[in-house]
Amino acid sequence: MSMVYGPVMSWRYGRSLGIDPVPPPKRCTFNCVYCQLGPTRNPVLSADAAQETLPDEKQLFNQLDEYLRQISIESLDVVTFSGSGEPTLNLHLGSMVRQVRKCLPELPIVLLSNGSLLDHPRVMKNLSEFDIVTVKFDAGDDKTHRAINRPLAPFRHDQLVKAIHGLRTKTNVTIALEVMLLKLSSGISNISGKARETLVRELVELAPVVDIFQLYTPWRPPAEEQVQPISQSELKDFALELSSSIDKGRIWVYGIHDARTHSASWKSHQSIRNDILTMLQRRPCRLKDLAQSLDTSISSLLPLISQLRRVNAITVRQHLNEVYYSAQNEV
Ligand code: SF4
Repeated sequence: MSMVYGPVMSWRYGRSLGIDPVPPPKRCTFNCVYCQLGPTRNPVLSADAAQETLPDEKQLFNQLDEYLRQISIESLDVVTFSGSGEPTLNLHLGSMVRQVRKCLPELPIVLLSNGSLLDHPRVMKNLSEFDIVTVKFDAGDDKTHRAINRPLAPFRHDQLVKAIHGLRTKTNVTIALEVMLLKLSSGISNISGKARETLVRELVELAPVVDIFQLYTPWRPPAEEQVQPISQSELKDFALELSSSIDKGRIWVYGIHDARTHSASWKSHQSIRNDILTMLQRRPCRLKDLAQSLDTSISSLLPLISQLRRVNAITVRQHLNEVYYSAQNEV
């Protein structure tokens, strides 16, 4: 399975070529309640523990070279390192970014991270190679952080705050915080009560060191039924509260900020079946997402989707009145 996938349609960054430096099965230091990859069955507690089985920049080069023969490079907006777990677990990340930059010098390179490994000196050095580092920040206190992100190794919320400050002082990257706002059926939520107060306070305190705040809710099917997305008006209300202390232009709200304006353009597909599967292994997609990503029509995708369903290669799930397809993340 290739570690190069997509491009996926990102509400934040547009047509995003995905690089998965920690390919399936999912390996992560967290077990977030809303993770679209399902539960973390392969917990990894430190970056040093995972190296033997992870790919390096040479493997990436071969796969990227093959991929770039098929797609029109002009139809990509960004390269994003993200996929089947926590990308910073791969200590070859820095050389991988340099490799991508040689092939795609015009494109910004983004990392999506949960921030748990930033105190590892090699991880921090790797991060300095990126243009944008997006760090998950769903809670303003340790109790809510443990309830939502469920770190698998001892990792406290205050360590995350310290790591974000370290990212500012040790690198020149643009720092974005992605804040998943949600409710759990247990009554826990980061948009009400004390949890909301502390989250808003911490976001405001981090404003001097952070460039962009990205507010969203689980709009793709989450791992667990207990996760409930919030409404668009609740999202806007949270953004409004933040904007009394943080410049509005730095707050991106899902449903308002939307970079998914253009489709990708392909020269050819070596195997559209594989292109579908590599994408669905990393994130659930609707038919219209696949059509936009793969530069094809929904009607031409339908027979292939039916065939993949017949052989149980993909599953289907309804979420917020939309139909999503996913592929098994285990290999
Ligand atoms: S959402 Fe990201 S950080 Fe959370 S468990 Fe899934 S892969 Fe790990």
